[in-house]
Amino acid sequence: MENRKKLIIFDLDGTLYKLKGGSFKRSGIYKEVLKNTEQYIIDKLNKTKREAKLILKKIIKEYDESISIGLEEKFKIDRYAYFNATWNISAQKYIKINLGLRTKLLKIKNNFDLALVSDAPRVWIKNVLKELKIENIFTDNNIFSGEGNIRKEFGNAFNKIIKVLNIKPEYCIAIGDQEETDIIPAKKIGIKTILINRRNKTGVADYVIKDISELKKLLDIII
Ligand SMILES: [Mg+2]
Repeated sequence: MENRKKLIIFDLDGTLYKLKGGSFKRSGIYKEVLKNTEQYIIDKLNKTKREAKLILKKIIKEYDESISIGLEEKFKIDRYAYFNATWNISAQKYIKINLGLRTKLLKIKNNFDLALVSDAPRVWIKNVLKELKIENIFTDNNIFSGEGNIRKEFGNAFNKIIKVLNIKPEYCIAIGDQEETDIIPAKKIGIKTILINRRNKTGVADYVIKDISELKKLLDIII
């Protein structure tokens, strides 16, 4: 038997906190990122506001939410520079503070290693963790962000995590609020999964809890 702590892999948005407005798109974050992107295109590519709007519209049509990839392929814009310029937005405006989260995570950290995986860029993740006052709960090496070509939406993020952290899937537990990206790809490679769902919806996840505040209790029972 491996003599190491089990690893809990947390999703961020919708899992460690709730968005005001309920979802990413309705929260206003997406709108602010689009506004920043428009300005970024104006500055970086020397375009008028009208031209920038048109470019952005075309990119969204072709690349959907993967704007960074579109800008990179069409205009050779470095995606990290793009993310840092457009996603460095205030988390305070958009997230509901979860009182007691820090204390609960610290308790869980006594018995588990913790990692964080999000398809959001690192600059946003850092702003959120700071706002939630949990920025030192996750070490930098245990934060997996989504700027590159390894993302939950591409189905390859969990493989990367177990490789990088050199841990077997059976020693991992993934927790998230999206079945498609947080649960199915983790389960596929043998990771135990916990879905956060307000209505206790049952699906493919091994366990379901209503809220992150119920996690400690569940872990006490199942581990
Ligand atoms: Mg989420």
